[in-house]
Amino acid sequence: SSALLAGKRGLVMGVANDRSIAWGIAKAAHEHGAELAFTFQGEALEKRVRPLAEGIGCDVVLPCDVTDESSIDAVFDTLAKKWGRLDFVVHAIAYSDKEELKGQYVDTSADNFSRTMLISCYSFTAITKRAVPLMTEGGSLVTLTYYGAERVMPHYNVMGVAKAALEASVRYLAVDLGGKNIRVNALSAGPIKTLAASGIGDFRYILKWNQYNSPLKRNVTIDDVGRSGLYLLSDLSSGVTGEVHHVDAGYHVVGMKAVDAPDI
Ligand code: NAD
Repeated sequence: SSALLAGKRGLVMGVANDRSIAWGIAKAAHEHGAELAFTFQGEALEKRVRPLAEGIGCDVVLPCDVTDESSIDAVFDTLAKKWGRLDFVVHAIAYSDKEELKGQYVDTSADNFSRTMLISCYSFTAITKRAVPLMTEGGSLVTLTYYGAERVMPHYNVMGVAKAALEASVRYLAVDLGGKNIRVNALSAGPIKTLAASGIGDFRYILKWNQYNSPLKRNVTIDDVGRSGLYLLSDLSSGVTGEVHHVDAGYHVVGMKAVDAPDI
């Protein structure tokens, strides 16, 4: 069959609306035959997530705030009862106080540092721990990261530090779980205008900069990220784990643009 995820069951965490990166991955997974469950954070987002999920035939739509471990437990208890087995998880969750996604990293507060790390980094480990017992036939876990983990990007600040820790946790989890044929990878997406991105200072300028300086001379879409997600979730990437895969129109390979580079 050409359906890469036929017979597979996956949990998608982090859809806020139809512009969410998680939704781009969910669409690609659905088109390739996966059966999906979704989580949403809070009632306000349920009103957006439930219709999207139902629109692609999914009725497992569960609340989950990753700052509350009992709500993570409840999600996996439900999946254990409904499905028994889980094949993949998409983790597309991040948070930091908007006030600290502008200005300088040096001004980060201890409170927001902890909260940013808990939600944007530790939650992936907490979720992975609970997914493992259900991944009885192997599995694939994918999280979302950004180039601000590797290089300093304006205003990304504490989120860059959290993404660096998230990328390191991908490598540690890959080693922990490799023996169970559970693969753990990250997609490093280029900038995309989403709800979370709207909290980052000068985001429109960052989009323009990436468009002008990336090899493909454009920004990426949630569908670009979705197709690469499909690769990491499916057996197409059966030999890949611990990887940070860039879906950024090639931006991360460029050191400097030539003086005579044609304008676009
Ligand atoms: P988004 O706003 O659509 O998604 C962020 C999600 O995080 C939301 O669904 C929100 O409900 C969830 N979330 C925040 N705090 C939570 C909590 N305590 N418990 C449960 N869920 C919580 O934005 P997005 O850009 O699609 O973000 C998805 C992921 O992609 C994030 O990890 C983000 O850092 C990453 N990313 C985004 C970009 C970009 O430019 N948009 C680039 C690279 C990586």
